[in-house]
Formats: sequence, structure tokens, C-alpha cells
Amino acid sequence: MIACGCEVCTSTDKKDKRLRPSIMVQSKNTTIVVDTTPDFRFQMLWEKVKNVDAILFTHPHKDHIAGLDDVRAFNFFSGKKMEIYANSLTEEALKREFSYAFADKKYPGVPDLNLNTITLDSFSIGDIGIMPIQVWHMKMPVLAFRFGKFTYVTDANRIDDEEKEKIRGSQVFVVNVLRKQSHVSHFSLGEAIDLVKELNIPTVYFTHISHQLGLHQTIEAELPENIHLAYDGLTITV
Ligand SMILES: [Zn+2]
Ligand SMILES: [Zn+2]
Repeated sequence: MIACGCEVCTSTDKKDKRLRPSIMVQSKNTTIVVDTTPDFRFQMLWEKVKNVDAILFTHPHKDHIAGLDDVRAFNFFSGKKMEIYANSLTEEALKREFSYAFADKKYPGVPDLNLNTITLDSFSIGDIGIMPIQVWHMKMPVLAFRFGKFTYVTDANRIDDEEKEKIRGSQVFVVNVLRKQSHVSHFSLGEAIDLVKELNIPTVYFTHISHQLGLHQTIEAELPENIHLAYDGLTITV
């Protein structure tokens, strides 16, 4: 965190250096990024990503959409529009926050986007099947996504029973945990561990971790065997 001198923010362990939460899902011929955080540009540069076929959005909070402008580099090299997938709530925010990219008369060089409105119906991008799952971020409905045996839930503190059923059977589950103390819109460590036990998923990673959770090494050692803290650059093969 900017201006913070806590032991996590001043740690020399690379795993304590966390950019904003986002994932890239890749098959043989398709690459999808979930959310364009304020760190999107740096994340794409760092991972040397050459092509992205589509962007999925979970919800309209700034830490999940702010980096969208930088998709224009992909437009430039591919010569194609970037396909973006969002529900109507997020779509409204994107049109407001990036009005210049949706204007009738566009300034040259603005991101070139093709907006696809999604609901809770399953859909596919290339050879990747996607099942949206609705989770709650205090009062805001947020989209989580299941890709085959892999499920990604960010920014939630509650999941309705019906939607939990969609997560069951996942082999790998990534879910947000902010800190040990409870929070109005994010799972705490204890709440997330309870959820994971309830869903009985073999491999779990926690993401969207705040500096308030503690040092990576310390927390990792306290977790049940099948649960780990995610870290920047983590690659999972499913
Ligand atoms: Zn949020
Ligand atoms: Zn967030």
C-alpha cells in the first residue's frame, strides 16, 4: 500500500509484493484476461503477453477496470477490436469511465472495443467454455467464472447456495481473502476457510490479499494443506 511502512509493505520477499488481482486463462488457441486492473499494463509487460482474445469483467470497481485503456496496444498489433464481456452493471460503468472509447466520433488511438453483454448463461470464447456465477460483494452482484475444473471468485463476501452448487466439483478454486478481521464486502480468512471446507475442493488459492493479512510465509504456514496464498506470477495447470 502506498505510504505504508508495515512489515508486509517493507518485506523483501517477492511474494509480499502484490499487484492488483487479475488472472489470465489460456488454452492452446485462446487467451482470456479477467479484469483490467490499474496494474494491467505492467502485468501484460511482465508476463510478455503477445495476444489477448477477450477480457471478462467481474464488477465495475475501479481496481478491476481502470487499466482498460491499455488494451489499445493489443488493438495496434492484432488490427482487431478487443472483445470485452461484462454484465449490464459493469457495462454501464465502462461506458461512463471510458466514454471516449464509446463516443460516436473517436479521437485517434483510443482503445477499440467490442462490448458483449453477458448474463448468468454459459458461453464460450474460442475453445474455452465459461460459466458465470453470481456472488455478493456486500450488496453488489459480482460475476465469478468457472472454466472447466477451475473457478475464480474475486470480490465476494457471500455466495447463495444455488450459486455454490456451480462451484462444486472444481479441482482448483481461487477465492478472495482480504485479511483475518471481518470486512463488509470481502471474505475474511476464517470465512474463506469455512467456505472451502463446505465445498470440499482439492486445491485452493487465496487472492485479493491485503497487507493486513500478514507476511506470505507466515500465513502460508498456518493454512490447511490444500490451501495456499496466491502470488503474482503464479501459474496453475488444470
Ligand atoms: Zn470490488
Ligand atoms: Zn477488488
